[in-house]
Amino acid sequence: MKLPSLNLQILWGAVLGVALGAYFHGLGAQHPWVHGGVYAAGLVGSLFIDLLKMILIPLVFCSIAVGIANLRQHQQMHRVWVSTLIFFFSSMSIAITLALLAVNYFQPGAGMHLAMFEQAMQNFQAKQLPLPEFVAQFLHGLFLNPFAALAQGDVLAVVSFALIVGIALVLGGERYKNLLLLMQEGLALSMQIVGWVMRIAPLGIMALLIKLVAMQDVAMIASLAKFIAVVVGTTLLHGVVVLPLILYLITGKTPLWFWRSSREALVTAFATSSSSATLPVTLRCTTGQLQVNPAIAGFVVPLGATVNMDGTALYEAAAALFIANLVGIELSLGQQLIVFITAMIAAIGAPGIPSAGMVTMVMVLQSVGLPAEAIAILLPIDRLLDTLRTTVNVEGDMVGSLVVQKLVAQK
Ligand code: ASP
Repeated sequence: MKLPSLNLQILWGAVLGVALGAYFHGLGAQHPWVHGGVYAAGLVGSLFIDLLKMILIPLVFCSIAVGIANLRQHQQMHRVWVSTLIFFFSSMSIAITLALLAVNYFQPGAGMHLAMFEQAMQNFQAKQLPLPEFVAQFLHGLFLNPFAALAQGDVLAVVSFALIVGIALVLGGERYKNLLLLMQEGLALSMQIVGWVMRIAPLGIMALLIKLVAMQDVAMIASLAKFIAVVVGTTLLHGVVVLPLILYLITGKTPLWFWRSSREALVTAFATSSSSATLPVTLRCTTGQLQVNPAIAGFVVPLGATVNMDGTALYEAAAALFIANLVGIELSLGQQLIVFITAMIAAIGAPGIPSAGMVTMVMVLQSVGLPAEAIAILLPIDRLLDTLRTTVNVEGDMVGSLVVQKLVAQK
């Protein structure tokens, strides 16, 4: 029997995962099947994520260094840098603006009181994270001993070291040709391993979604329904309308083509809630079905996975305004501008791992004097919302690489 394409298997895996998770949820946590089923799903899901993370660091390192080396050879480096940064900042700015407009309009949280959530907040101590300290921490984390960064799986520090190595490789020219060749082969080898890992992707994605759906706290979802609806609606607006529109206007590529070609990465992002774990798949889609020059994708996608987070930026801004509503504080235009800027910094600084945005949100809240402990209210629903925002984060990186490719090609 001929199996359907991997792309389709992944979609089926996701649908089945949600359906089985909902079934388990209906049976209740005490049911013996559910206990065993969720345990097994947890094992398979973690195995899939572990395999992706295993290949992540060698892949990122080789792909950036080789990408930079190739671009410098083509003298396009400057254009790629500039277009990438402009795209990242513009798309995150649009996302945050959408969030601010939506929350101001729909006012989720108005009429509710912080006291209603006292129990949730009781045992929660937010770690203080003032803006200057946050920025210092971020800058300090950019340059690390490369061996430590590689060993700890610190994607941002690996990205910056690989950028420097890539530049040195080109400037050294002939002198380092063997090293460049080694990295080119390392990249090809890593991609081959990603291909193998993807064979179990349908199962891994199904397992992750079973566990996610089975363990949702429906009561908490119901009490925060309006906020969830505003966040989900705005995130979808950005992911389904804004980003595809930018893509269409600049490159002429249709949304349908884009979604079909990027589905593997989008579904993986949804199930893992981690841009970093999804990165090997994002690179595979970008250089494969989306047909982006590996030199451009090798630079834009890994950098984007750590700094370009439209979904996270949008969420940080929306959550800050929601908490202001709960506390009963009306934020002035000036304060909302501070939220705009800090949400952007918080999204850039958030690593691509599950719920990272929750940690960096402390800074956004503190910047306008909101109680950081209020994050405890959002924690129970975070895993759910993280699925969608991570998907949009990853979508932004893929759209970005297509846009940059087009802009660089135009003379
Ligand atoms: N989970 C997100 C990501 O990996 C980050 C976040 O928590 O917003 O892209």
